[in-house]
Amino acid sequence: MHTDPHSFRSIAIIGGGFAGALTAIKLLDRTEVPLSVTILEPRDELGRGVAYSTTEAVHLVNGPASTFSLHPEEPDHLVHWLAENAPRYGWTPPADIASSFPPRYLYGTYVRDELRRAVSTARSGSSFRHVRASATRLVSAPHRIEITTSEGETIEADEVILALGVFQPELAPREAAVAAHPGFAASPWDSTALDRLVDAQEILLIGSSLSMVDAVTSMEARGFRGQYRVISRRGQFIEVRRNATLERDFLAQGPLPTTARSLLSVVKAERRALAAAGKDWQALPLAIRPHILPLWQKASDTERLRFARHLRAFWDVTAHRAAPDSYHAVSNAIAEGRLGHQPARLLAMRRFGRLIAATLKTRSDTEVRSFGGVIDCRGHQLHDWRRISDPFVRNLLASGEVRPHSTGFGIDATEQGDVISEEGRVHRNISAIGHPLRGVAWESSSITEQRAQAIALADRILGKLTPLSLVAS
Ligand SMILES: Cc1cc2nc3c(=O)[nH]c(=O)nc-3n(C[C@H](O)[C@H](O)[C@H](O)COP(=O)(O)OP(=O)(O)OC[C@H]3O[C@@H](n4cnc5c(N)ncnc54)[C@H](O)[C@@H]3O)c2cc1C
Repeated sequence: MHTDPHSFRSIAIIGGGFAGALTAIKLLDRTEVPLSVTILEPRDELGRGVAYSTTEAVHLVNGPASTFSLHPEEPDHLVHWLAENAPRYGWTPPADIASSFPPRYLYGTYVRDELRRAVSTARSGSSFRHVRASATRLVSAPHRIEITTSEGETIEADEVILALGVFQPELAPREAAVAAHPGFAASPWDSTALDRLVDAQEILLIGSSLSMVDAVTSMEARGFRGQYRVISRRGQFIEVRRNATLERDFLAQGPLPTTARSLLSVVKAERRALAAAGKDWQALPLAIRPHILPLWQKASDTERLRFARHLRAFWDVTAHRAAPDSYHAVSNAIAEGRLGHQPARLLAMRRFGRLIAATLKTRSDTEVRSFGGVIDCRGHQLHDWRRISDPFVRNLLASGEVRPHSTGFGIDATEQGDVISEEGRVHRNISAIGHPLRGVAWESSSITEQRAQAIALADRILGKLTPLSLVAS
């Protein structure tokens, strides 16, 4: 590997979670010319980001190993990797590895190890560097981009990829009131906070989706034997992922709906048809997913916002289902009478000695009830860049290098992911992947979506780098 980043086409990836690490893998694997790839990521390990940094073995990926290979042309790649490596990383795979749902920490290890492999097998003359710092500023010129890091270093690159992931909102006043209380866990991934809740009699879980499943599996693994009270605003509750197969590509059979209302009506009709035929409704997301991009891109902003406001919660519980082993912990607790769920809104929380008093508005009543623990399982994700307080995001907006997407979700970009500046100029050398493209593509965060994006992005960038252009530069 070469060490001078300036003699080659240099690409800086800002953010080294799943999306950033995978894009680096694809660039290094697919390039025909020497490349210099730099990832800026403050975390020690690349490839983990938020989702795969958990150290708890009970937190599982939400799909079978057969679906999460990093290389779609080798669908068994993850399965083979697990067979060879899982035991030395502390996981004994079952006989049928392809159908298993591996721990998320192990999936992060897979991505990290694949990046190491891609670096070591990269085309001769290429270089790779992990800068353990955050980007704080970016200044673009037509052929060169300058990035300043939190350590005061300046990095120059020909191409920049924004793989910043998702941001968390500031604590709302009702959470801030109990943020320092020992009974409050701001997320189910804060293992120290969960350790403190083991002896509680009753725990309030705010949210009823995948993060709630993480919380229950973690508490059960710690030996918690008390009660769980789960609340969600609309009363939806996550389901277990069954082995459904695609029944009918029902959206391909007519013009795609262009309003939230017409989409809801065809989806409901299909759900009724599946039920009438005795088929599993979980065939629905398999049929809908391939159409999400055109559905989103054909809709007006008004309809997109209507969907986000009224149908998002329904879509989330339809699309996201829990790994069977994780769900087992939840259904056991239900069967033992230890877990109850109700539609309710959290109005306020306050300290009440060793307990936390929560004011809950149910459909019929408002009640104040005390809990030994409260775990916030809403998996808060702030997609509105105008409300993100991160200094780099603020600088990008203030300098006009990026502008918010017209829906308010993420940033504006072309359908291919080329970022658009405040004055409407398409940056040909700054692209985005994953969460920042929420407004452009809507679903832009799962492994399979980001895998497709990373491959397309790498090919687009590499397409610009012929050996001839290297000679000319
Ligand atoms: C708990 C959880 C579980 C999930 N499980 C699944 C699953 O089982 N299956 C599935 O398909 N999807 C899952 N997802 C979806 C998940 O979003 C994607 O799989 C993927 O991890 C997203 O990766 P990312 O790189 O876009 O974002 P992130 O993982 O958020 O990574 C972004 C990285 O950017 C870095 N960063 C941010 N700002 C800067 C800066 N200024 N300078 C440098 N670095 C910066 C951050 O430190 C972070 O590491 C899960 C998500 C969560 C939160």
